[in-house]
Amino acid sequence: MTAAAGPDREAGGLEQPARRDTRLDASIDRYAARTHQLTASAIRALFSVANRPEVVSLAGGMPNIADLPLNVVGEALHTLVLTRGTQAMQYGAGQGEPMLREQICEVMRLEGIVAHPDDVTVTVGSQQGLDLITRIFCDPGDVVIAEAPSYVGALGVFRAYQCEVVHVQLDDDGNGYGGLSPDALREALTALRSQGRRVKFIYTIPNFQNPAGVTQTLQRRRELLAVAEEFDVLVVEDNPYGLLGFDAEPLPAMRALDGERVLYLGSFSKTFAPGFRVGWVLAPHAVKEKLVLAQESAVLCPPVFSQYAVAAYLSAHDWKGQIKAFAELYTERRDAMLAGLTAHLPAGTTWTRPGGGFFVWVTVPDGIDTQAMLPRAVTARVAYVPGTAFYADGFGSRHMRLSYCYPTPERIIEGTRRLGEVLAHELSMATLFGTHTQPGGRALDPGPNANLS
Ligand code: PMP
Repeated sequence: MTAAAGPDREAGGLEQPARRDTRLDASIDRYAARTHQLTASAIRALFSVANRPEVVSLAGGMPNIADLPLNVVGEALHTLVLTRGTQAMQYGAGQGEPMLREQICEVMRLEGIVAHPDDVTVTVGSQQGLDLITRIFCDPGDVVIAEAPSYVGALGVFRAYQCEVVHVQLDDDGNGYGGLSPDALREALTALRSQGRRVKFIYTIPNFQNPAGVTQTLQRRRELLAVAEEFDVLVVEDNPYGLLGFDAEPLPAMRALDGERVLYLGSFSKTFAPGFRVGWVLAPHAVKEKLVLAQESAVLCPPVFSQYAVAAYLSAHDWKGQIKAFAELYTERRDAMLAGLTAHLPAGTTWTRPGGGFFVWVTVPDGIDTQAMLPRAVTARVAYVPGTAFYADGFGSRHMRLSYCYPTPERIIEGTRRLGEVLAHELSMATLFGTHTQPGGRALDPGPNANLS
């Protein structure tokens, strides 16, 4: 059964074949078992609607690169092609370009990390760093501990490698601090040990967590590392937002506190631009060796042109000043988001107060299901990501992630107004039908550890 998706189009004078679209997959019995868990997101179709201009999208996590000095970047790229084009467009080293790896060490210094460029592996965004780490450590069925909630892209990688994700709850002090709870972590590790399960690593986002927006205090980082040491588990520290703090200087990275146990993931996506797809992993020497082998088998070498471009930008531009400018822009948007939520969301709804990064995590009153509500929100011209996207176990329906990085402050306020109306209507329906029993509390997550038993 084949259907033409539309009339043939002309492109560059060549007639294009009609797009073939079929729901029958002739390869259905050939795919590897690991693809069975790769399901298209149920909300993807809605997001194509959510991207229409009349919809205020509080869903995506796109950085506001309109603020970048494009003339500076353009000049740097022009000079790059003219002066070092033959190297920049050639194959390169699997580990990444030495000059960029040195600059990466300079960037990491801002969070107290003293590292040697030899221990840095450049990756295609930190997303590929996550992929490589999971590839070298995890066999199917291995346990990975992740925060509840956790970054949707990391959960996708863990699923692709058939890991079992055990969630450990986050908490929130109401002022932007909290994160992975050391007590809950110890409890989870103890339970897993008693079941004879081996945990391959703990995946954590200590700064302005995606999606919850909370940050671990220095004390908490130390406590978490002590628990990791007690159970002899590796820690994967994912830190794309650490330099985008609004109210305080960056805290020392976990990697700055422990150079042997922590694998650190960094990225230029949020501090420069995601389109270059340049991130990195800092790992102990032996792990680095394995990462480079995995990197070579995956892509031979990370894109050399992108690496030269980032290196040229870092050399030619006041990148620290640019990060400060980004942080100021996002502070204004965070403030607009918090003001809008206070003004428009119904009683019983709570949210985190991030001190940096892109995201606010909202807990809605009992009886409201954010995934079920999404089509109605999009109809009301506002979009968000339902909380279930951030759990491996179907939990999270009383939560949603709102991002303030991309829309203007005016649009953010308008988006929260629309969201408030939708929520108020849902709440009145839930009350009418008796599904709403009590107001929501501050707890970020009442019970995903159920999957431990
Ligand atoms: N980790 C986290 C926590 C993220 O939020 C993101 C991007 N949204 C990534 C990793 C991947 O970023 P990139 O591949 O662009 O470096």
